[in-house]
Amino acid sequence: MSTPMTYYPLFSPSDAPAVSPIVGKRVELQLLTTLKCNLKCTYCSLGVGDMVGSQGKVSYTLDALDAFIAKHLAEHEVYVTFYGGEPTLNLGFIREVMARYPAFRFQLQTNGTLLDDLPESVLAKLSNILLSIDGGETITDGFRGRGVYRQVIKNTQAVRDRMAGALTARVTWSSEETSFEELDELANTFDYVYFQFVAGEGTYSPAAMEKKKAVITRLVDKFFSSDVLYPIIPIMGIVRNKVLPSRATELYHGKTQCRVSTHILNVMPDGKIFPCPDMMYVPEMLQGDVLANWLKPSPLQPHASMPCGTCEAQAWCRGNCLKNLYLAYVKGDDHYRSKVVEPICELVRFLGREVDRHDPHAWYAKAPLGVQKTLRDCEVYEYVEIMP
Ligand code: SF4
Ligand code: SF4
Repeated sequence: MSTPMTYYPLFSPSDAPAVSPIVGKRVELQLLTTLKCNLKCTYCSLGVGDMVGSQGKVSYTLDALDAFIAKHLAEHEVYVTFYGGEPTLNLGFIREVMARYPAFRFQLQTNGTLLDDLPESVLAKLSNILLSIDGGETITDGFRGRGVYRQVIKNTQAVRDRMAGALTARVTWSSEETSFEELDELANTFDYVYFQFVAGEGTYSPAAMEKKKAVITRLVDKFFSSDVLYPIIPIMGIVRNKVLPSRATELYHGKTQCRVSTHILNVMPDGKIFPCPDMMYVPEMLQGDVLANWLKPSPLQPHASMPCGTCEAQAWCRGNCLKNLYLAYVKGDDHYRSKVVEPICELVRFLGREVDRHDPHAWYAKAPLGVQKTLRDCEVYEYVEIMP
């Protein structure tokens, strides 16, 4: 007897593709409200390819966004990150999107300088605010401009009681002078600290590597000696992934936890879509277009030339920054590989070994229920890259 043939329609009645380009049923819409910014940070990643300031406010309509969501994301849980440039420079767009999609989750990624101008109605809807800061006052002001550190801390305190969501410091760890005390202070001021090693050449001299490792050792020591959860996201994420390995893969189908290969869409102000916000100047990374209403699977994927398959960290790191791996191993930029990518991978592996020294499984088994739950389910994992 022959098996009845299953009929797979090419298009559903809504004209949506039968197989979604989004992997899984969650998707982060990272809406760039503008590419303009009111600061001039020295290491800004949008400076690469001259992206910063190259587009003003959003030029597609919300009706076009509606049609795009209806066609491609109707079956997904959508969460939005407002991004830029400095997204609060286009507050009108943020308000319109929040009003149009009241059931979505929202996050704001901001430099924090205009945070105290946000109205209650916007603050109340934010699940998380990611505030860019570079460490302590001297280092932050050195990269961002005089007075920025104090202004951001003041603004953070001003909005804390007016919002129910989390406040997360986003540290681009660039300077070799960034100390344990500075990061520890941020952990006291914010709900969470997420740090990421800067993708900057000239940052990873042997002496600078040793200084960073010394700080990492102290952060990990404090994580395992604290009575409460020490809210440093990369350490939390690595401990989670080592203790509960399925959590390292389930939302990302085993790929990078920054989501660029699976379920994040960076929508530029002109409606063009790219998987990684640092690669919007690379034509082959174009993934879709809100105005033309098309979307394809992310072109930023693991590649056989990348070294992760034989790396000791693969099970819990999952490819960290795919932009870095792509530039180093697919595009073959040997200088970038040796000056940026390999040192960062060495720091990631070092972080994993420091965690292992403290027996994370035994620590988790003894941790109070509340600590176990936050380590397992922290919503901020969905909003950051998790790995450093
Ligand atoms: S440390 Fe580097 S090589 Fe190892 S899994 Fe992570 S990104 Fe890949
Ligand atoms: S971590 Fe992911 S999102 Fe961030 S720069 Fe790298 S590839 Fe892009």
